[in-house]
Amino acid sequence: MHNFSIDIKKTDRKKTVSFQVERGLVKVLVPKNLDKVKLDKIIKSKSKWIKNKLSKVDEILPYRKKDYVSGEDFMYLGKHYKLKVIKGKKYNVKLSDKYLILNIKPHTKDDKIKRLLKNWYFENADKYLKEITEELSQKYSLEFKSVKVRNYKSRWGSCSSIGSIFYNWKIIMAPKKIIKYVVLHELVHTKIHNHSPRFWSYLKSIYDDINYPKNWLINNKNLLEI
Ligand SMILES: [Zn+2]
Repeated sequence: MHNFSIDIKKTDRKKTVSFQVERGLVKVLVPKNLDKVKLDKIIKSKSKWIKNKLSKVDEILPYRKKDYVSGEDFMYLGKHYKLKVIKGKKYNVKLSDKYLILNIKPHTKDDKIKRLLKNWYFENADKYLKEITEELSQKYSLEFKSVKVRNYKSRWGSCSSIGSIFYNWKIIMAPKKIIKYVVLHELVHTKIHNHSPRFWSYLKSIYDDINYPKNWLINNKNLLEI
């Protein structure tokens, strides 16, 4: 099998197979009556082109400054939530199935709102990342010493020489598949403390398509902001 994820859509509006690679995703439009063997052949013949495209970075999504008003988009574990601002007597942040619900007192300043949201994300990042690191550490027998979430300007994680792992709290906004990559990346660093070919081949042996999360994080980093 090809080692990239592919999204196949059947259509009766097309007579030929067409490929599109965007933001680390491969999309294929296929005529409805094309059989699977033929399709596999075509994909195989295109795989070099696809891999080449995937290794390149698409346009980076622009950063949009938040105003902290109802309806604004916030991400959590890869899902989009609409902010719902409720003004009352207390401060509180919680998540429902569609909304990030923010209880604030009237006239709360933007920097205070940002701090409230950041604390909420930070706490959830701490909890989730500790659990997932523990789980993947056991699954792949990669031992770490400790996990902490912190502020980073331009990195998603780091691992010290003694196996202390640190994550950027903002990674909690990314899809689980992307977080898994960051966690495995740091866990492999507990064994190999550099980015040598040996490191990448180790990581590739436990995470099937490392280009996808690498590109995703570059293209979408501005979405992972509050
Ligand atoms: Zn690294």
